[in-house]
Amino acid sequence: MTLRLYNTLHREKQDFTPADPARVTLYVCGPTVYNHAHIGNFRPVIVFDTLFRLLRATYGEANVVYARNITDIEDKIIARAQAENLTIKTLTQTYADIYNAEAGAINALPPTIEPWATAHISEMIEITAALIEKGHAYTGASGVWFHVPGMENYGALSGRKQEDNEAGARVDVSEEKRDPADFALWKFAKPDEPEDAIWDSPWGKGRPGWHIECSAMAAAQLGTTIDIHGGGVDLQFPHHENEIAQSECAHGAPMARFWMHNGFLDMSGEKMSKSLGNVVLLKDLLEDWHGEVIRFALLSGHYRMPLDWTDELLAQAKTTLDRIYGALGRVWEAANVKASDHTVLDALGDDLNTPIALAALSKLAGEANAAAQAGDNKDMATAKANLLAAGHLLGLLQSAPADWAKGEDTDDNARIDALVEARNAARAAKDWAESDRIRDTLKAEGIEIMDSAEGASWRRV
Ligand code: AMP
Ligand code: ZN
Repeated sequence: MTLRLYNTLHREKQDFTPADPARVTLYVCGPTVYNHAHIGNFRPVIVFDTLFRLLRATYGEANVVYARNITDIEDKIIARAQAENLTIKTLTQTYADIYNAEAGAINALPPTIEPWATAHISEMIEITAALIEKGHAYTGASGVWFHVPGMENYGALSGRKQEDNEAGARVDVSEEKRDPADFALWKFAKPDEPEDAIWDSPWGKGRPGWHIECSAMAAAQLGTTIDIHGGGVDLQFPHHENEIAQSECAHGAPMARFWMHNGFLDMSGEKMSKSLGNVVLLKDLLEDWHGEVIRFALLSGHYRMPLDWTDELLAQAKTTLDRIYGALGRVWEAANVKASDHTVLDALGDDLNTPIALAALSKLAGEANAAAQAGDNKDMATAKANLLAAGHLLGLLQSAPADWAKGEDTDDNARIDALVEARNAARAAKDWAESDRIRDTLKAEGIEIMDSAEGASWRRV
């Protein structure tokens, strides 16, 4: 089957073939870890996890390399670490662990590689040095700058050219720039910045800019030209445009052959974002909803479209999943055979059309019901295999139907693990109110947390 993917770079759906089918490469911009991620932040996680699953099904599990980075050095991280009197490592490890536990609770597979920005500072310095040498960058009073007008094709991804990179909180405002669109590759340390936020460089002590982090990690882990680069649509400009500028000017090769962007998750028609204050945290959702319900809700819209997040969406997802699990339960005892249906795979292969894929999953559930009703053992076995294979592709139906019906299943354990981990993190961050709140929440569910020297464990009482 040929995969069709919408390539933002060319503004159309294209046939996807990897440069090397034995090593298909996918890079997705990961979180900046300094507090809890909201459900909008998990939309790219689920979208690109579904793409990862599709690529693995198409090219073989061992032949797909997915890197999702951790941004563990950034202004907001430094500010939070200083405010809480924590080392940067303690803060970032805490929230990276929480992020991964929460991603696991909505059935996101771990990426093949999780590069941390601070482990790649030397590569960031190398790219910066190459850009200076090639005349694409210059040193100013507060850091090293990439000179945007020096790149002929700048703006090809977003169609935005001379816009001001000063817009946006992540970019320093400075009068030393030769052009307002120039952006920072290296930022010199300011007085009062903590020691663990400072590295040596040929130009002076400091730290990398945000964009160069991804250019360095993608090249170091996956190579100078990767197959697919993904992220939220807000990253298209300036972040991805600047990644392209740095990587292509330094390496003389395209950074990625395909660029994919997920649309926003909205609340009442507005982007969910920390700055607007309309966020719903995944950790809070997991207290009320099973991880698969949340995942199903995230998959219910096409990834390039905005998705409005409502309680009705979650309730609908739960009703549909209950029905599908009910059907799976009716064929659960059937023999194990090979799956024969391709409708879910085909829907995903058409630019990750998850609404059609979920409709196909419901249709398979209908076939399971019909086979069970007719008492046809062969059809029941086929229906079971088809449902499970489709569920594997979509990251759904990972519980036994009986456990799902009880509402107390292995995924629920994962959810509790995530909450206990979140409480550990809150304790490490000295957020006692949060740690007490989580303990009380679990207690109300009949779950007791036991602290010991080895860490926290839990049991149902
Ligand atoms: P950040 O930590 O802000 O860099 O965001 C991490 C990821 O979440 C990026 O890929 C963003 O594009 C994505 N993102 C942030 N807010 C939303 C939203 N409301 N809907 C969808 N994706 C989002
Ligand atoms: Zn990035």
